[in-house]
Amino acid sequence: AHFSAGSSSSSTDEEKAIDDGQRVINVYQGDPTMYERLWQQMGDKTSFVIQGGQSMSYFSDVSNLCWFLEPMLAKQIVRLHKLVGNAVTENRHIVVGTGSSQLYQAVLYALSPPDAAEPMSVVSAAPFYSSYPLMTDYLKSGLYKWAGDACSFNKDSPYIELVTSPNNPDGFSRNSTVKGSRGMLVHDFAYYWPQYTPISSPADHDLMLFTLSKSTGHAGTRIGWALVKDQEVARKMVKFMELNTIGVSKESQLRAAKILEVVSDSREDVDYPGKSVFFEFSHRMMAERWRKLRAAVKQSGIFSLPDFPPGLCSFLGRVFTNQPAFAWVKCEGETEDCEAFLRGHNILARGGKHFGDSPKYVRVSMLDRDENFDHLVQRLSLMSSRQS
Ligand code: PMP
Repeated sequence: AHFSAGSSSSSTDEEKAIDDGQRVINVYQGDPTMYERLWQQMGDKTSFVIQGGQSMSYFSDVSNLCWFLEPMLAKQIVRLHKLVGNAVTENRHIVVGTGSSQLYQAVLYALSPPDAAEPMSVVSAAPFYSSYPLMTDYLKSGLYKWAGDACSFNKDSPYIELVTSPNNPDGFSRNSTVKGSRGMLVHDFAYYWPQYTPISSPADHDLMLFTLSKSTGHAGTRIGWALVKDQEVARKMVKFMELNTIGVSKESQLRAAKILEVVSDSREDVDYPGKSVFFEFSHRMMAERWRKLRAAVKQSGIFSLPDFPPGLCSFLGRVFTNQPAFAWVKCEGETEDCEAFLRGHNILARGGKHFGDSPKYVRVSMLDRDENFDHLVQRLSLMSSRQS
């Protein structure tokens, strides 16, 4: 195998005793740097050359509705979904974006009628991904408007509901919540991959968003993709992309294609026949991190974590519980502002209010480098004695 799952940083008991609480531990963002080590171990397997005369045109495939989508990337996206079994790709248009963030904007544009009397309401059940309200409203569009928590939405008008599963920030697998019939659902599947959650069945929704950022960890490549059933919706999304950036960087698309190819190829690895070595090892890393975090939280006695039901993963072939990319940590007891409390201990994490929930919660990234993560769990485990 080319990967090894164990932590590269040493964390002997002597070293643990060194943490004096002064070092600032930043787990505010969800930067997936945890994966760097796995990819470094792949060496040159993912390298490729692009020459000066290559990929110069605006166009990639004029016969495709999404004319700026590189055929190689389209092929590898379909191949990976088929391998993992997390999404149906038949009878779908693939629309590529500069991260799924750009596709989010394209979706809002495509699903909102251009001539409605009022902006389309956009909702998601709290706690929701903190960027949704910001990305929805920052240009003060007349087409759509953030309308908050899906659970309290009761207007008799069309709406868009974002269903994020597993959810950012709390990690639970989700279904739509609004009961009305006038809703359009957008499934954000950034985390529907086997290192985070058991893959129960291929998702088969009208509009599904995926991203390289949280699947392989290549956030800086800025590649996301949408699987879209309705041709007119796909066409409008492509129109948005044309008006917004006239397409998506081909270098990024080719790099993404190469990375996905290596992930799928790694299933031929002799040690793990039929499985993907990348998902096998990233899954083990997350399992180990959650084990360490739960132990630290238990030791502290002042925090709690969500509990997840077990499920069978058809891809990895075993039963496990969600091991999300973020920990949704609750401060038990009197502490009202968990973000401020952690900041007082030099831990930077994002408070519950950003996600439409109580400040008793904070979201902690589980995707940082080994060294930072190990410091985090150590600091948390020692906090009960420190605060008194
Ligand atoms: N959706 C969710 C739920 C996310 O957590 C993120 C990244 N934090 C994104 C979308 C955006 O990812 P990107 O633009 O990097 O594809």
